[in-house]
Amino acid sequence: MLGQVVELIEKKHKFAITSHMRPDGDGIGSGLALYWMLHSLGKEVEVVLRDRVPPAYLVLPGSEDVLVQPDINRAYDAVFLMECSDVERPGLPSLHHQLIVNIDHHSTTEPFGHINWIDPTAGAVGEMIYNLCKALGSEVTKEIAECIYTALLTDTGSFHFSNTTERSLKIASELVRRGVEPARISQALFYSYPFSKIKLLGMVLSTIERDESGKIAWVKVDRETMYEADASEEDSDGIVNHALSIDEVMAVAFFKELSPKVYRISLRSKGKNNVAKVAEVFGGGGHRNAAGCRIEGDFEEVRQRVIEGLQAAVGVAPIAV
Ligand code: 5GP
Ligand code: MN
Repeated sequence: MLGQVVELIEKKHKFAITSHMRPDGDGIGSGLALYWMLHSLGKEVEVVLRDRVPPAYLVLPGSEDVLVQPDINRAYDAVFLMECSDVERPGLPSLHHQLIVNIDHHSTTEPFGHINWIDPTAGAVGEMIYNLCKALGSEVTKEIAECIYTALLTDTGSFHFSNTTERSLKIASELVRRGVEPARISQALFYSYPFSKIKLLGMVLSTIERDESGKIAWVKVDRETMYEADASEEDSDGIVNHALSIDEVMAVAFFKELSPKVYRISLRSKGKNNVAKVAEVFGGGGHRNAAGCRIEGDFEEVRQRVIEGLQAAVGVAPIAV
């Protein structure tokens, strides 16, 4: 709970912050916001990630201080895990020797930490860090504001998704008052892509297919296509949302081949159609409208299982075969 987090920060001194592998805007933004806040309170703090900060997020203050390491190798009073569904997701094997603070807004998250603060009503973990700032009575500096704004902007799909609430817009407004320049952040996040990302986008979108109902669509990418586009792993982030921009489509899947017969699946949906439930069936999780999982098997079999799951979630008849 928030109260326990406040008490811990007040009493202890030496902290680390981490997030999941292949970190996104909320993982990095909320982590760096907490980093600046703990700094301002005179604490000793490090941000440790298994994977590098994607270039788009280098716009964030503090991103150059992030330690990219295959494991956590010091003793801390506590380690904050930002938006992680379990203790394995940061990819830092020695984490379980530390005191873990689990801060998340996914309803599918287990209370795996020694302290768990989970708020599924928050649009982003960044929003929770804003609340923590207020609870601790610390000033929302320009650095903190830029990090939280980025977390909010990315997790709400630029304020398009259903987690965009009066509260998230109010916080965004306050962050702009604290010095955030929205156009500068958007320019860095959405208008500074490498050529390879747009090349890959074109190749992946050309694979689009839909089911007989027209309500479910999917796209895919294999390793060969990634190679042909000279794409980095981050270049495929966000492609899934384009498939959802079709009028009658209610749920979509993006199948990304990681290695032979291993697929990462990103799911997205509109409205009340719940794709987190579909991801959970395969050991993944996420939110109602954005979720993911990993499945091993032949592509055709994996595709069929996922599409049938989406059809059930949307309430349409399965494909007749
Ligand atoms: P993405 O499709 O962008 O990778 O993930 C969408 C959402 O689903 C994110 O909120 C992410 O945290 C969640 N998610 C993706 N993959 C997994 C997974 O393997 N396990 C869990 N628990 N959540 C996931
Ligand atoms: Mn998030």
